[in-house]
Amino acid sequence: VAFTALGLDPRILKAIVRQKFAKPTLVQSRAIPLALEGKDIVARSKTGSGKTAAYVLPILQSILKLKASPTYKKCVSALILVPRRDLANQVTKTVESFAAFCAQDIRVENLTWKEDDNVQRARLSNYPDIIVATPGRAAVHLNNSDLSLEGLTHIVIDEADLVLSYEYGQDLDDIAKAVPKGAQAFLMSATLKAEAELEKLKGLFCQNPVVL
Ligand code: AMP
Repeated sequence: VAFTALGLDPRILKAIVRQKFAKPTLVQSRAIPLALEGKDIVARSKTGSGKTAAYVLPILQSILKLKASPTYKKCVSALILVPRRDLANQVTKTVESFAAFCAQDIRVENLTWKEDDNVQRARLSNYPDIIVATPGRAAVHLNNSDLSLEGLTHIVIDEADLVLSYEYGQDLDDIAKAVPKGAQAFLMSATLKAEAELEKLKGLFCQNPVVL
């Protein structure tokens, strides 16, 4: 398949063209059509496989559509959880590069910086569309009521195997409780090894996921 066959918004396609991506990678060509149908996705994907775009592109598409609706209300639409700050920076850059032609329509906040809680609270108060965070930072703001996930439509756990190994269990439980039923989930993991734990994550966030 070609990117143009995926039914993506022209503004997103323009950003793909600018990055000179010739065609979708394997994980992208599998995951994007299913994601656009609204399916929950569990994907085995290594760094370098193009896994970030596999969830970022359908999320951007969905947010653009939501924001064009007359009933849209400002909210955090997507929460992307990552194990570490370096990955958060990388994912934030990827989101920004694909949203480059979406004008003022998409705002992304990276919550992993060691900042004063009050500074981050202020950045959260006007509802970024997409938040990239470690489970720890997201749970702190959630438990302080700085962060509302009431309008959340997408939840991503990237490098889920690492997230699990960093003992974010309690944070993930707290976050799962706040994620609305029916929010679309993406679980990306380099290995599906830690089976029991991954099953638990699936149970917390996914409904009948497609496993890739
Ligand atoms: P990731 O696996 O998401 O960390 O992506 C690895 C690298 O592949 C990044 O530098 C991306 O910019 C690049 N990339 C992602 N998708 C494609 C694609 N369809 N064609 C060429 N490069 C890509």
